[in-house]
Amino acid sequence: MTEDNIKVGWNLENTYTSLPHIMFTAINVNPVSDPKLVILNDVLATSLGLDTNALKSRQSVEELAGNRALEGGIPLAQAYAGHQFGHFTMLGDGRALLLGEQITPSGELFDIQLKGSGRTPYSRGGDGRAGLGPMLREYIISESMHGLGIPTTRSLAVVITGEDIMREVVQPGAIMTRIAASHLRVGTFQYAAKWGSIDDLKALADYAIERHYPIFMDKENRYLLLLQEVIERQAALIAKWQLVGFIHGVMNTDNMTISGETIDYGPCAFMDIYNPKTVFSSIDTHGRYAYENQPNIAAWNLARLAESLLPLIHEDQDEALEQAQEAMTTFPEKYEAHWLTGMGNKLGIFNIEEEDISLIDNLLQLLKKYGADYTNTFRLLTLGKLEETVLVGKKDFEQWHETWQARLEKQEVSKEFIKQLMQKSNPVVIPRNHRVEEALEAAVVKEDYSVLENLLKVISNPYDYNSEYLDYTSLPLDTSGPYKTFCGT
Ligand code: AMP
Ligand code: MG
Repeated sequence: MTEDNIKVGWNLENTYTSLPHIMFTAINVNPVSDPKLVILNDVLATSLGLDTNALKSRQSVEELAGNRALEGGIPLAQAYAGHQFGHFTMLGDGRALLLGEQITPSGELFDIQLKGSGRTPYSRGGDGRAGLGPMLREYIISESMHGLGIPTTRSLAVVITGEDIMREVVQPGAIMTRIAASHLRVGTFQYAAKWGSIDDLKALADYAIERHYPIFMDKENRYLLLLQEVIERQAALIAKWQLVGFIHGVMNTDNMTISGETIDYGPCAFMDIYNPKTVFSSIDTHGRYAYENQPNIAAWNLARLAESLLPLIHEDQDEALEQAQEAMTTFPEKYEAHWLTGMGNKLGIFNIEEEDISLIDNLLQLLKKYGADYTNTFRLLTLGKLEETVLVGKKDFEQWHETWQARLEKQEVSKEFIKQLMQKSNPVVIPRNHRVEEALEAAVVKEDYSVLENLLKVISNPYDYNSEYLDYTSLPLDTSGPYKTFCGT
């Protein structure tokens, strides 16, 4: 096929509508009064096969605001359930619409979803809307995750609706267009297992396999393979979160994908000072989703997926349980392997060995003891600028540093090579909370998007050590109060 044959513009499928009807509800659009595009992701648009100028047209803005359906798309709200802070509930897209699935020029399929697009049968008491601040926040953090090389849903655009919404403070209403490999969640399976027939559950599992793991489709034990693969992808994903100090904040089972992408950025943030107990969400009073708990919570969520799949794994439920449990036991070792390799790379170690575990643990203990900034410490170790860390001059750190240097010398590679590995593994910039807040404040209050645009430029290139991005590595001046973020907005 020549390039001329590739259609630029929406090229939609509606594969989700092939699922049993209990899995979704088709929705008429919910128009808003005065939609305006405030931010568009040009690079992402192009990779989806969309024309950035066309996306700015009046018609397109109406589409991105949910005032009219996309050509070829069938808008629908997906049904799902979930354990929220450990409690099982019926959920579903209460403020989101799947517009369709875009076939990209390279033949991939991506969900196009509006978030903040109005009420659906799954809205419960909610207004179906979202505020500009939280939608821009998701835009920033998801783009940052993408830049960091972490699987994530992405943001194509944000429009303001022209209508205010009521939250703690009155906010401009906004709708974000979210792009995802799919929106299948652990909670989607919980929903089908609880309220669907076995055929419904099977249809959902086959859909997931066809979409994300097509090579399993003709395998007899494909549902066990599905479980094993989701376990693998989540182990890899959570290790990546831990390695950059990302705290999701609401790891409910409805916020964990089958594709292995990070989804639903609510009260999430990156850790500054290293403390494994860090928690940002204002509603997480027991620290269930604290930094150090994330791998355990992921395993807990995956066990809910395993339970949901039991009827498909084997007709003998005792046998099914045994197979699912065996699959589940692999999570900790898979996670640990990804994490150790990653931590080794952060320290310039190419092939991790047993003895490196204590080297890593000892460093983390020192970070904690001296209240060192997580990202900056690894950046400064990479640059050899020890004098800029709070660890300099500390006897125990200097001892650790000697052991580390000796370990590096055992590798038969040049110093330059080691430095390159460390630069690839230790970001210079993360979206620090005060920077994110500053960008949001300028955009929401002053309608000034320049701060946000600058931040996006920097965080989309987080491993660039040649940049003049030093300004973005500094901590907030006032670190007095703990940073809190809010969800349900
Ligand atoms: P989230 O916190 O975005 O993961 O949402 C959790 C659940 O609450 C999902 O079922 C959402 O659709 C629903 N939800 C959140 N905010 C609203 C809202 N303003 N109106 C209706 N449903 C909402
Ligand atoms: Mg959610």
